[in-house]
Amino acid sequence: MTTALETTGLGKRYGRDWALRDCSLTVPAGRVAALVGPNGAGKTTLLHLAVGLLRPDAGTVRVLGRSPGDDPDLLSRVGFVAQDTPLYRDFTATDLITMGGRLNRSWDAELARERLGQLRIPLDRRVGKLSGGQRAQVALALALAKRPELLLLDEPVASLDPLARREFMQALMGAVAEHGSTVLLSSHLLGDLERVCDYLIVLQAARVQVLGDVDALLAEHRLLVGPRRAD
Ligand code: ATP
Repeated sequence: MTTALETTGLGKRYGRDWALRDCSLTVPAGRVAALVGPNGAGKTTLLHLAVGLLRPDAGTVRVLGRSPGDDPDLLSRVGFVAQDTPLYRDFTATDLITMGGRLNRSWDAELARERLGQLRIPLDRRVGKLSGGQRAQVALALALAKRPELLLLDEPVASLDPLARREFMQALMGAVAEHGSTVLLSSHLLGDLERVCDYLIVLQAARVQVLGDVDALLAEHRLLVGPRRAD
């Protein structure tokens, strides 16, 4: 598989307004792609179309070669971290790991426990009592426990302080290096992602404005960024 995500003329509208319009893009397999755009640009809409939470009003979306609305098994191969990590706050990380195992055949509970243990996240404390950064790590560990081929993250660091942002990006990049998943993560700030992504999609006013290899785009526009690391 050379393409993890592909959209053609994809559109979604609410009433008369298009939240996403004529969106044609690909995310090549094995890449870390940044989906960047200001508030209201259509980032969440695109990710929700990709995981089948929304149905398109125009065009098509293919994820790992399948159509998300038509393939219930597809979600077992795709990890999704939704915006603001809406976890069940009365449960502990241990509870959530156990519950995930009942819902997913390919679930690796040990991997999730190990990952959170390494970060010293209290597994038996209620998620509502954890810090925002710790909750984000729990959401990431749950998404990774599926051993996903494609990992989608919707503004995972938007509400975190700088230290928690850095720790989250380090954990994410460590996991990607270990498992080799394709990643698409959104942010309204390119600065959050520029050092870790190698592919860039810029959305603005519901349309794709920029798409391609970060190195090629930087060379084309004669731009420079800092070293590509998460620390
Ligand atoms: P943010 O960074 O603020 O999350 P975004 O880039 O993720 O923004 P979307 O949430 O996809 O953008 O929203 C795109 C557009 O669609 C916005 O104008 C938004 O107001 C509109 N929109 C999103 N969801 C709905 C909805 N359920 N009903 C009506 N309009 C919606």
